[in-house]
Amino acid sequence: MYELSYDKGICDTCETLDCLTRCQHINLDLDAAKTERQKIVQGEDSRVLRECLTCYACEEYCPYGNHPFYLIVERQEQKGVWPVPIPLTKQQLIMMAPKGKITPEKVKPPIVNMCYFPMLLECVRGKLFEGCATIVGSDIFCNIMWLHFAKNSAIKERVPQVIENIWNYYLRDSQVEELICFHDECYGTYTHLAPAFGIEVPFKPVHLFEYLTRRLDELEDQIRPLGMKAAYQRPCSNRLIPETRHWVDDIFKRVGVERVERQYDGENALCCGAVLRAQQRDDLADDLQKRNLEDMKAAGANVCVFNCPFCFFTLGEAVAQQGMMPLLMSELCQFALGEGKMIGG
Ligand code: SF4
Ligand code: SF4
Repeated sequence: MYELSYDKGICDTCETLDCLTRCQHINLDLDAAKTERQKIVQGEDSRVLRECLTCYACEEYCPYGNHPFYLIVERQEQKGVWPVPIPLTKQQLIMMAPKGKITPEKVKPPIVNMCYFPMLLECVRGKLFEGCATIVGSDIFCNIMWLHFAKNSAIKERVPQVIENIWNYYLRDSQVEELICFHDECYGTYTHLAPAFGIEVPFKPVHLFEYLTRRLDELEDQIRPLGMKAAYQRPCSNRLIPETRHWVDDIFKRVGVERVERQYDGENALCCGAVLRAQQRDDLADDLQKRNLEDMKAAGANVCVFNCPFCFFTLGEAVAQQGMMPLLMSELCQFALGEGKMIGG
């Protein structure tokens, strides 16, 4: 019922093939990119299906929004090219399935959607999140992760259900329309992925960083500039929503943090490596993480700020071993408001 919106005609007339020529991980010149693109479009086997690291970046590189990465995932699934070994994929599908434990609840705004991160509920506290309610659990898990597993079918099946759950169990009867997405992936799901598959979203997603910026403005007189030098770890899901990138600088400016200039930032950002471990490509994960950390360090960062909790869990310890403080963006803001407390600390 839900189909990917993809226009073959746009690719046929595309001269730059940015989706493949700009890929950081598969080396393709323009001619090779044309050949591989054609194979993917025609549903034939392509080395791209097997070599893709599922970093999402080509979704950002395509200047026409023609969903090259979603199409790669579609073809991987059709051809049974599993980036993650199939027993692990099946296990994850069971583990992350909706548990059906959701019950209707009246909620008062602002509502923060914590996705399937109950261990991070503690982050929503203090002045920054004053008056906020949270929702969390497997039944509202955004499910975008299946892009890493060549499982668009799970997305088509589960994402509409999750959206219905959020709306029917929490927002509709509470007459709340805005949903603050703590997790970048949720915002990417509801504003980019869902429309690409024709899935309707009846509420208005708000990116966490937009909420934080608003809140910092309200609390401006209580901010103590931090004077830190920060490297920013951009997550894969942010490739889907580049329009949110400016919030990072907006927040840093408000809390007195300098963003260090480094090679692997913005459109050159490197994946945290977690997915590569699941794909059992440990050498690649080691290489990416090493280059990323060395780059942060060489740029003079003394703190690494994370957007995605999963990147934070993956790289946090290694960042600390390099002498930099790992922090979620919300924690950075809490520090600036004199409420700093490390997760688990
Ligand atoms: S997906 Fe985008 S960048 Fe790639 S060939 Fe098609 S139009 Fe060009
Ligand atoms: S998702 Fe990343 S690795 Fe895969 S083709 Fe696109 S840019 Fe390359």
